Amino acid sequence: MKVHNFSAGPAILPASVMAEAAEAVRDFNGSGLSILEISHRSKGFVAVLDEAVSLVRELLGLSDDYAVLFLSGGASSQFFMSAMNLLNEDETAGYINTGAWSTKAIKEAKLFGEVKELASSKDTNFSYIPKGYAIPEDLKYVHITSNNTIFGTQFQEFPETKLPLVADMSSDIFSRPLPIDRFGIIYAGAQKNMGPAGVTLAIVRKDLLGKVNRAIPSMLKYQTHIDKDSSFNTPPVFPIYVSMLTLRWVKAQGGVEAMVPRNEAKAKLIYDEIDRNPMFKGVVTDAADRSRMNATFVLQDQYAELEQAFLAAAAAANCDGVKGHRSVGGFRASIYNSMELESVQALVDVMKAFAAKHA
Ligand code: PMP
Repeated sequence: MKVHNFSAGPAILPASVMAEAAEAVRDFNGSGLSILEISHRSKGFVAVLDEAVSLVRELLGLSDDYAVLFLSGGASSQFFMSAMNLLNEDETAGYINTGAWSTKAIKEAKLFGEVKELASSKDTNFSYIPKGYAIPEDLKYVHITSNNTIFGTQFQEFPETKLPLVADMSSDIFSRPLPIDRFGIIYAGAQKNMGPAGVTLAIVRKDLLGKVNRAIPSMLKYQTHIDKDSSFNTPPVFPIYVSMLTLRWVKAQGGVEAMVPRNEAKAKLIYDEIDRNPMFKGVVTDAADRSRMNATFVLQDQYAELEQAFLAAAAAANCDGVKGHRSVGGFRASIYNSMELESVQALVDVMKAFAAKHA
């Protein structure tokens, strides 16, 4: 039975990756051992880790100025780790508040230095990406959440500044090419576009490190993980393996450049239906700010009591994970890299049939 997985994360992975991962659980590369039971210092796993790092470098066009780390602790640990490693107590970092994850990043950064909120879209429950704000030049860095998983907004242009950007790209990493030189740190929990839950990617511009005067525990210091090639302690072997397979898949599709038309076609299909269908409306009204990864929509007010009925209709058509986040309500279709257009079409068909019945 084909189930269309619209979950926000942990999320859909390519079917071929799932098949390869399942085989490696039984027998990793014909070794007679499972990927789940081999040493993180074994030749087999070191090769996996090296390939994962090379693929990240190749897909994003990273120079040697950047280190690629596979860490644990989720993107949530990067909220504090980025500030702890970059920001002195008497220095100020700029944050753009575009939702629940940015708000958490701001809270954690305040533990380590001054935070200036440069702009916020809180006034409309984060339904747009702020524009036209000033960025003072004396900040240490500017932090953004590139894609707001809960609210369905996405930066299509990154803030104009010479300061290094620190970006939480948990829900749109590898979905498009990046002007990489503008970033000081990029971090992402794997469980949307890269792999299963349990590993976190951090891309760090090395010259930004070593400039804070606080003591940092070894595990929380980027430099420790750079010096030890992400194996200072036992890294999450299986999530890194599955991430490597997914990165191979992205490369085989034609790289992040090939993800753009693929993701745009899916986004156009769902947003066109949201805008056309008399029963629904988009949460993000300015089309320019709409996420290519998480499409959020609600029922028009006069149909509001039909929310459960729509979820039931989606479930009957094997469309799973369509319920919106509780802070937004309504529905959310997460349409990450590996989702096929036919799955989006399946949901659009449910929306059309629902309107034919109820509108
Ligand atoms: N940032 C964003 C944009 C997210 O969507 C999430 C949710 N996965 C997080 C951070 C938190 O990630 P984690 O659960 O890996 O800590």
